[in-house]
Amino acid sequence: MTYNLDIEELIGNATPPSEAELTAILTKAEACEGLSIEDAARLTLVKDQRDLELIFKAAYEVKQRLFGNRVVLFAPLYLSNHCTNGCLYCGFRSANKELPRKALTPEEVVNEALALEKVGLKRILLVTGEDDSFDTDYIVSCVEAIYKETAIRIVHVNAPPMDVEDLRRLKAAGIGVYQVFQETYKRERYKTVHPSGKKRDYDYRLSVMDRAMEAGIEDVGIGTLLGLYDWRFDVLSTICHSQYLKETYGTHAHTISIPRLRPTVNSALDKETTRRYSVSDSELKQITAIYRLVIPTAGIVATTREPVEMRSALLKVGASQLSAASSTEPGGYTGKESKTLAQFETTASQTLDEVIAQVINDKEMPSLCTTCYRTGRVGRDFGDTTSSGDMEKFCKANAILTLKEYTLDRELNGTAELYDRTIAKALKDIEDENLKAAIEEKLKKLEAGERDLYL
Ligand code: SAM
Ligand code: SF4
Repeated sequence: MTYNLDIEELIGNATPPSEAELTAILTKAEACEGLSIEDAARLTLVKDQRDLELIFKAAYEVKQRLFGNRVVLFAPLYLSNHCTNGCLYCGFRSANKELPRKALTPEEVVNEALALEKVGLKRILLVTGEDDSFDTDYIVSCVEAIYKETAIRIVHVNAPPMDVEDLRRLKAAGIGVYQVFQETYKRERYKTVHPSGKKRDYDYRLSVMDRAMEAGIEDVGIGTLLGLYDWRFDVLSTICHSQYLKETYGTHAHTISIPRLRPTVNSALDKETTRRYSVSDSELKQITAIYRLVIPTAGIVATTREPVEMRSALLKVGASQLSAASSTEPGGYTGKESKTLAQFETTASQTLDEVIAQVINDKEMPSLCTTCYRTGRVGRDFGDTTSSGDMEKFCKANAILTLKEYTLDRELNGTAELYDRTIAKALKDIEDENLKAAIEEKLKKLEAGERDLYL
């Protein structure tokens, strides 16, 4: 990957927008066609609370216009915590000798996936450390076992960068999104926080999405670990990365994640630098909103690294996906909650049912949809459908259908009425009569016992 923009110079030359300039930028953003990197740089400099509120409002509106109020839910599934890298911030780093190591067998992975399936999840993200003993063969065998033995509908992967041939094998195994976070785009800082192991190679990591595209994986997920370096630099670099993908391959990053650094056992990050680069709640909201305004078609992914209130707040500023029922240790869904194998501490311990109810209470619509990946609405096609405004109707319909399926398939503990009311209201709010009729027909089929219905 190459891009020639000097981000420091960009930030140095940018000025905070005046009131009139901010209005002009936000008016442009509301057309849902994205913003330039220069506009993005100016938005990172906004500090006034009233101006921030305007940015948040605009980002929420863009999200609503392109995807409706649906919030996609998924869960991470940790395969292995073996790792030969030295990332100073991560509990899995090789120097952390206190961490018991565990790599699930494909059979154990299936059991974890079945536990997630049982609570109603359809979409999972496999996560793993970097170790040659648990390489692509291992990941592929886990992906294949999940598809063969469970009703999980789409498997995404967050795994170390690999060569084109290995990425082709992931693609052939049927993965949806391939995620790799650059952690920090600042080369010198990257070197400091990655002192050993294969991950030291900044360029190999940076170029992985080019290899993914070459391997035919059109949906890629990027991001930086917020808190490692100056967030303005890293957010603008992430945007550049996505814009580069769009220019080179015709598609923006499918998702942008917003992981914020969490405490971990035996972190080796120095405290002073960690304090200097820490990202406040308000800044995290600003980052989320900027991503939404600048790259409107991207899924913005918030995780259980954030507490419940923050997750709710992020949904109001442009986030569109949430992890739910989440453990960061291999075997965390079937074993006893040890926490000793975990990568970092999470803050949310809600069940999927509680997350769904929470999203509804936040006046958003939970969605267990996996349609796009399975109907070929990926890459450029996904981007074009979304920017044209057509995705919103698919998202609305499929959120209703998957919530209905969820209510039909499990014993609900006092939430059934809330879900029925939510489905009825969502249907009522649909103005397009043809769309409404199509959904109603599928709802009847679901009630009659059919499953996995979508538009
Ligand atoms: N090992 C692979 C890698 O590093 O690319 C993939 C999995 S790694 C477990 C997934 C992500 O977790 C990393 O890319 C990093 O951004 C994030 N992470 C690591 N330590 C973290 C921490 N202490 N707090 C929050 N996120 C963390
Ligand atoms: Fe290993 Fe990934 Fe953790 Fe680094 S972030 S130590 S590569 S699991």
